[in-house]
Amino acid sequence: MDRVLSGNRPTGKLHIGHLFGVLYNWRKLQDNYSCYYMVADWHALTTQWQDTSKIRDNIVDMVIDWLVVGIDPTRSVLFVQSEVKEHAELHMVFSMLVTLSRLLRNPTFKEYVAELRIKKETPRKSVLKTAVRNTVDVFIENVAKKLNSGEGKLDLDFMAYLRSELQKTFLENLKKTLEEEEEDLPYGSLVNYGFLGYPVLQAADILVYRAKYVPIGADQLPHLELTREIARRFNSLYGEVFPIPEPLIAEFPKVPGLDGRKMSKSYGNAIEISESPESIRQKVKRMYTDPLKVRKGDPGHPEECPVFMLHKLFNREEVDEIKESCIRGQLGCVECKRNLAEKMVKYLEPFREKRKEFEKDRSQVIDILKEGARKAALVTRETMEMVRDAMKIWK
Ligand code: SF4
Repeated sequence: MDRVLSGNRPTGKLHIGHLFGVLYNWRKLQDNYSCYYMVADWHALTTQWQDTSKIRDNIVDMVIDWLVVGIDPTRSVLFVQSEVKEHAELHMVFSMLVTLSRLLRNPTFKEYVAELRIKKETPRKSVLKTAVRNTVDVFIENVAKKLNSGEGKLDLDFMAYLRSELQKTFLENLKKTLEEEEEDLPYGSLVNYGFLGYPVLQAADILVYRAKYVPIGADQLPHLELTREIARRFNSLYGEVFPIPEPLIAEFPKVPGLDGRKMSKSYGNAIEISESPESIRQKVKRMYTDPLKVRKGDPGHPEECPVFMLHKLFNREEVDEIKESCIRGQLGCVECKRNLAEKMVKYLEPFREKRKEFEKDRSQVIDILKEGARKAALVTRETMEMVRDAMKIWK
């Protein structure tokens, strides 16, 4: 069977966006491919290197979600990236094959830097304010000194002195404040070498398994392109070692968060796969709905309502009926949400129950990951032998 590689950063418990967007697809792929599913803990370090205290717990919490939804360790290889050292070794080799300018063009890097630039604009305003405030203080002080010394007379000379003193003080303060701010520039302190190079590590993650396929969404195609470029470059320089990986594009249903935006932990709008029934009810109760439907009798627009989108996923049997009743103003949002919450509680119940089993003894998850790393290393060591042979380097 052809190999497939995919992975997740260890973010802890997963939410229903991951369930429909990633995990069901992974589960299906197990039928036709030899799947390698990786906990990308080194990738987590590129942006969370300051606080690593939760990474171990997050790994176990996340992998429990993989297991409860049917990612089967007897059919797929589940492992932690940092436990299979050849990822790092191949990353080092690949880092010689990529130019800096190619990495600087990476869309994710550009987006990240753009975000930092926006953050940088706010300090810019405060720089000017600080400079003006300091200027006024120093200026008043200097003028007071001049007057006290008896030198100041309100004639043209004195006015010229005031003008030049004000300009000089302002420019000096602006320069000083900008220099202080330069030291805190986000580029220098926030973008690290590892973050710039993470797509090279990603290429190593995929190619160290000589994976033929990578499951991705259509919007992630540019991310795979660099991996394909590196594989081609290596093969043309040293000989054919790597297959050129192909994307396995799947269409994922849109899973809205409580506020209607894309579901994401960082937005605080997520419902976890293992969320308790009471918490599901509370969260669904405060979900956004169609803002034009204020009372039960108002005709609604279900296709624009996040509650309806979740009905499509958790309550397929009643979707048509709900749509009709909403449009006709026969269904109220309170009742509609109550119905959804109960359907979600029921749907997620088997996952919740299975999680309890794993929670009783989390060491069984660690054993699964250790065994996965052992199996993964059988392939990665073989690949590195091939790489060393092809490159004619020491082995
Ligand atoms: S009745 Fe249901 S689908 Fe219609 S707007 Fe209200 S919550 Fe949304």
